[in-house]
Amino acid sequence: MIPAMYVLLTVALAIIALVDRRLIAARWAALGFAIACVSIIVDGYRDPGGDRWISWFTVATHFLPLLVMIQAFLSRHGRNAPRFVVILTLVACIFVMPNMVWAPPYWLRGVLVQVTCATIIAAGLPTLWSLRKKSTVDLIAFCVVLGAALSYAGRSIVMFLNPIGDTPQDVVAFYEGLNIIFHSASALMGMSVGIVLMMTIGYDMVRGRAEESEIDPLTLLGNRRGLDRQISDDDAGKCSVGGALVIDLDHFKRVNDQFGHDAGDQVLRAVGNRLRSLFEEIGCVYRTGGEEFVVLIDEQQAEGIAALASSAREGISDLTFDGVLSRMNVTASVGFHRREASEIVHEAIQRADQAVYCAKTDGRDRVVGAVKETGFQVLKAVA
Ligand code: GH3
Ligand code: MG
Ligand code: MG
Repeated sequence: MIPAMYVLLTVALAIIALVDRRLIAARWAALGFAIACVSIIVDGYRDPGGDRWISWFTVATHFLPLLVMIQAFLSRHGRNAPRFVVILTLVACIFVMPNMVWAPPYWLRGVLVQVTCATIIAAGLPTLWSLRKKSTVDLIAFCVVLGAALSYAGRSIVMFLNPIGDTPQDVVAFYEGLNIIFHSASALMGMSVGIVLMMTIGYDMVRGRAEESEIDPLTLLGNRRGLDRQISDDDAGKCSVGGALVIDLDHFKRVNDQFGHDAGDQVLRAVGNRLRSLFEEIGCVYRTGGEEFVVLIDEQQAEGIAALASSAREGISDLTFDGVLSRMNVTASVGFHRREASEIVHEAIQRADQAVYCAKTDGRDRVVGAVKETGFQVLKAVA
């Protein structure tokens, strides 16, 4: 029954990995379950007192899936298992080889196997702990990995308190007693890890699709949906927006009319890249319409929003292009607004938008702020 479930998990995860090649975690998880599957089948059919190399194979293929599963959990966040644990797994595989000069007594070998398993799993815990608040599935992933590490730590203690004797009869007695409990616990733990991995990978798929739908394919900046999401994140207290810039390219229609739509696209990409490099550390940039961009500035940086608005205008007018576009000078009208405590982000964007309108009527290639002066909101040209 358990091997059949493991085969099913392997196949399901392999299919997911093939369908969406970005889901690296699915590849690792499929590999982990494939190894665990072979291990469990070999272990089920072997003679406990028989060939020691087969026994070694089942121990080594017990270590490896643990490492691979930890890698699966960490790879969801672009992380890797710490190098020391990869080395530890390989060294442990060599250490438990039969007939080696360093071969410890059987009881100590048993304890060391469990300690190694606990260490391999525990190595992933610090990173998973630091990521636990990202989503509920990340918290569940941390809990299930912690449970697995504790279960192996518990087994190490049980093995230490009930040392296995060195004679073949002692080994058989262990296999017929305590080891059955250990195997059942491993199988159940493997199943829960599998279910949680499927859950996290499913979550990643859905989240990946949602994130894709929030990206503008031309500039790879966030689109209006992305902007709406940040606004709701701000409402939920997950981030804090301190102000908004609205940037509208001047006479952009002429660029298309004079140089063609592809040239227009090239300009939009260049503007997008320039805004990204200017603001990625201090805010988020969105392309909200054809030639309109919105930048939400983080609260900590919002004090200097007027200077940031000027740097956006300058950054765009400094852009240079090759070929036919080299004759062209792209400019933008920029409006900004420092958000007030009582204001929702949407209102801050609207105020910045009014400022852009003012910059347009004022002659374009301008920065206008919607600012508060002596208690009144006014539109004020900055540069
Ligand atoms: P203003 O200075 O008043 O803002 O004038 P404008 O020409 O920039 O503004 P208008 O709203 O009249 O025109 C915007 C143009 O942007 C119209 C459309 O051809 C162009 N545009 C919108 N989306 C895209 C796009 O994805 N690619 C290209 N190349 N052009 C686009
Ligand atoms: Mg416009
Ligand atoms: Mg325009």
